[in-house]
Amino acid sequence: MEKPVCVVFADAFAYSSYIQLGGLGEEFSVQKIKPGIAYSSNLHYLLFDGKTPDDVGFFTDYCWKKAEYNNPGKMKNSLDQIDTLNNLYRAFERKLTKKHDNIPFGERAFFECKGKYKFMESGECTVFGKKVVKAYKKTAEASFDEAEEQVTRGEKGIVVVLEILDHVGHEVGSEGTKYINAAKMVIERTKKLFNHFKEKNPDGTCILISDHGMGDVLTGVDVLNPMKRLFGLPGEKYQVYNDSLYLRIWADSNDMLLKIGSYLNKIDCLYQIDESNRQKYGVTKHEFGDLIYVLKNGYYFNPNCFGVSLRGGVAGLHGYMEPLDQVSGILVTEFGSGEMIDAMNVFNTVRDAIGK
Ligand SMILES: [Zn+2]
Ligand SMILES: [Zn+2]
Repeated sequence: MEKPVCVVFADAFAYSSYIQLGGLGEEFSVQKIKPGIAYSSNLHYLLFDGKTPDDVGFFTDYCWKKAEYNNPGKMKNSLDQIDTLNNLYRAFERKLTKKHDNIPFGERAFFECKGKYKFMESGECTVFGKKVVKAYKKTAEASFDEAEEQVTRGEKGIVVVLEILDHVGHEVGSEGTKYINAAKMVIERTKKLFNHFKEKNPDGTCILISDHGMGDVLTGVDVLNPMKRLFGLPGEKYQVYNDSLYLRIWADSNDMLLKIGSYLNKIDCLYQIDESNRQKYGVTKHEFGDLIYVLKNGYYFNPNCFGVSLRGGVAGLHGYMEPLDQVSGILVTEFGSGEMIDAMNVFNTVRDAIGK
């Protein structure tokens, strides 16, 4: 007989906010999650299935098409896209479609979105090795309502998926009123749901978890234009790709990689995911980049390869890897140690604790 489990997954619930608001109360202990690598799409598979980017076959959402990796010349014009016209086009398209599908006009053929989201499809799924039904509706309130009904119906495995904190966090940051109010609502409704679940299932386990927090976006960093001046246009001797926080370089010659590496290693707000960390985080494939860098907290790439300017549009970002309270996620359980837990260990720890 499977042990009953009720999981509330609040995307982008920051550790700092949970502490400030007092959390779920005495019976629960909160652990700060030391951030894993990349964005939500990778982190969901890591936390709930124990799968790394190597396992799932993608690292961040967008990649160059594989056929183009070994043919950098073809990409030459594609990545030289940091221009005003492209920015205008992007702004126009976003207004029109309300989508943030960052591919520049005419460049779609070179990119593919390989990132998949674990909770996209409806119905059943597994979290921590257990089969659960999703409560995943348009709004957070409707998702909680659905979960309450599932408990009443006698469901023994439930995962509530909440996107609200991610949405408002990007918009106003984790200190913004909208974010704080949403976090309060998530705590209140989670308390209510967990009480209800425990009434029905005294032997059940309740878990509140997030994948990351939300860092304030303060300072734009341009590496693309300096790299063009120093190493020539991308597509000749090397390729470069960066989204908001991650930078990836490919080159055919070791010499070029060394040159670029020693330039980038001198930039203070940037650090390299070195070989031992690539092993640790499971990001070893060549197609993920010969060199991979991530920005320190508070910085963002502006412009980035897609020619998208973040200024004015985004107050918060995630994907930062330093374990500051604001950018770290939470694991709230009745069995936790209270100590910081590495994102890499969350899956095994929870699966072992909740057992069969
Ligand atoms: Zn997320
Ligand atoms: Zn997000």
